[in-house]
Amino acid sequence: MTQITIDTVSKTYPNGTKALKEVSCTISPGEAVILLGHNGSGKSTLFKCLGGFEPITGGTIHIGDTEISHLSFSQRRPFRKKMGTIFQHFHLIPTLSVLQNVLFGTLGETSFVFPALAPFASQETREKALHCLERVNLAEYAGTRSDELSGGQKQRVAIARMLMQDPEIVLADEPIASLDPRAGHEVMELLWEIVSERNLTLICVLHQIEIAKQFGDRVIALKHGSIISDTRVNTLDEDF
Ligand code: ADP
Ligand code: ADP
Repeated sequence: MTQITIDTVSKTYPNGTKALKEVSCTISPGEAVILLGHNGSGKSTLFKCLGGFEPITGGTIHIGDTEISHLSFSQRRPFRKKMGTIFQHFHLIPTLSVLQNVLFGTLGETSFVFPALAPFASQETREKALHCLERVNLAEYAGTRSDELSGGQKQRVAIARMLMQDPEIVLADEPIASLDPRAGHEVMELLWEIVSERNLTLICVLHQIEIAKQFGDRVIALKHGSIISDTRVNTLDEDF
């Protein structure tokens, strides 16, 4: 299991915006961390830097013993495989079935190049995909087109797709921001159950403090690109 060490990480965008200013924290294996903050505080930027979607402009990010931020795209591949991602807007392929979308979890990066590969998945891979769908309580929707699902169901498909790659680390960027409160609560509860039962590390960007209090072990709050607090959930103030 892998520790994540973020050391004095800065990110200045080409237009000069300083989105992260010397951010440091260490995330232990199996920890569930909520990144909290208002719009523009740098949460998504930190998420993108951790996921390797954006280069950092200062500091280091270690996954285990390896400094990942200076690796090339292809050198970073094994680390991307360790990390499962889910996003606010689900990133499903709307015209394909739920099962086909989940199958893309094993195809990884090639899925964007060869979406047509999904029909040729092995029997074993299909069974695994169905098993992942069962875990998110959507097995009976395997053949449904994903654009016919509700928002909450779509996010559960995205969770199933993420499980296909057997991640050690789950990166979630505002996973409930597009959902109504009830569906959002259900999705967070499911995500929390899954990371707990598999002892996965969770890094979840949220802006709702009430949700953070219910589902995280630890809340890291960002403001103007800096960490303003880093606390165990059970010690958060009421008026935080
Ligand atoms: P949050 O996720 O907390 O809303 P972001 O990380 O998206 O915050 O943004 C932090 C700051 O960086 C904001 O001022 C935002 O406008 C800016 N920013 C985000 N992405 C870019 C980008 N691609 N180019 C320039 N500035 C950006
Ligand atoms: P989403 O709704 O998918 O979370 P975001 O709000 O994170 O979308 O931003 C969408 C895109 O716009 C991202 O690629 C982000 O980097 C970029 N972006 C966000 N803020 C800025 C900004 N101030 N200037 C330029 N690009 C930005």
